Amino acid sequence: MDNKLRIDLRSDTLTLPTQAMKETMLNAGLGDDVFGEDPTVNILEEQLAGMFGMEAGLFCPSGTMTNQIAIKLHTRPQTEIICHKSSHIYLYEGGGIMSNSLASVKLLDGNFGKIDAEAIRQVINPDDDHLPETTLVSLENTMNKGGGSVYTLDEVRPIRQLCKETGLKLHLDGARIFNALVSTGERPFEWGKMFDTISVCLSKGLGCPVGSVLLGSQADMKRARKIRKALGGGMRQAGMLAAAGIYALDNNVFRLEDDHERAKALAVILQQTPFVKEILPVSTNIVIAELEQISPESFLEELTERNIWAVKFGKDQVRMVTHMDFTDQHLEAFESRLKLWKK
Ligand SMILES: *Cc1c(COP(=O)(O)O)cnc(C)c1O
Repeated sequence: MDNKLRIDLRSDTLTLPTQAMKETMLNAGLGDDVFGEDPTVNILEEQLAGMFGMEAGLFCPSGTMTNQIAIKLHTRPQTEIICHKSSHIYLYEGGGIMSNSLASVKLLDGNFGKIDAEAIRQVINPDDDHLPETTLVSLENTMNKGGGSVYTLDEVRPIRQLCKETGLKLHLDGARIFNALVSTGERPFEWGKMFDTISVCLSKGLGCPVGSVLLGSQADMKRARKIRKALGGGMRQAGMLAAAGIYALDNNVFRLEDDHERAKALAVILQQTPFVKEILPVSTNIVIAELEQISPESFLEELTERNIWAVKFGKDQVRMVTHMDFTDQHLEAFESRLKLWKK
């Protein structure tokens, strides 16, 4: 069989910028953003802040940096963050909570990577010299480790209310917030009202080569600029990159629906594939398959022999993520290659 077409589902960060996106980047107005003078960066920050009804934005090289800046904004040494035990900020940011902010973490469990107000309430530390002061709650939407699961506004409202009552800050790791919004039909500005800061990635499903934006109040973003400087994230003629972000917001948001449809189709095909025990519910563009009678390594080897690429994701799991460069042609090839696989 012809396996020439590479099917790369390891991540939605693998997308390459399209010709149209590259042309926009070439034609961007530029200046030195460390002086605040790159017009294209300023437009991107204002456009995204406007969409979410937040006062200001800060363009950064990565979602790790926007999250780490937010954590530094909302904590001090000896304070504590509450988040799900599978959060990106805890698992996949190189221990940055500790090294950048000298803060402690209280990890919660919860179905599909989600936490609720009641569970949070129970682990907020009382005022006591023995205990780190709780200052921040961080949510992730969509939740990567939860299989791209989605919070709804109705789930977030009680958490917002609790944070208000108890004086805690609330941060959203919205690396894939547009996947969540496209799936629920909720509006960005309704989400902006719920959080003190939101981190949005442009380099995932939106198809940009680089970039994330942190959103928040004018005062917080002023401090965030200084933190970004100290983390080494001040970029100069960054408008070339910001232009890709503007292009993506204008052209690549609503098409995320296609990625979600293809993820659902992938799940149906995988369900019939040898060694697949079950698939986590697919809400957006992430498909997590639970395996039986095979190691993830051997399963991935079987896939790569068919020129299909995925990643190991926990002890008995593999993850596939759909994205702009996974088309219907790739989906058809995926199906025909797996159909022939007999145990
Ligand atoms: C990808 C991702 C980030 C940020 O990653 P970068 O590679 O640093 O841009 C943050 N949170 C989640 C949930 C992610 O999936």
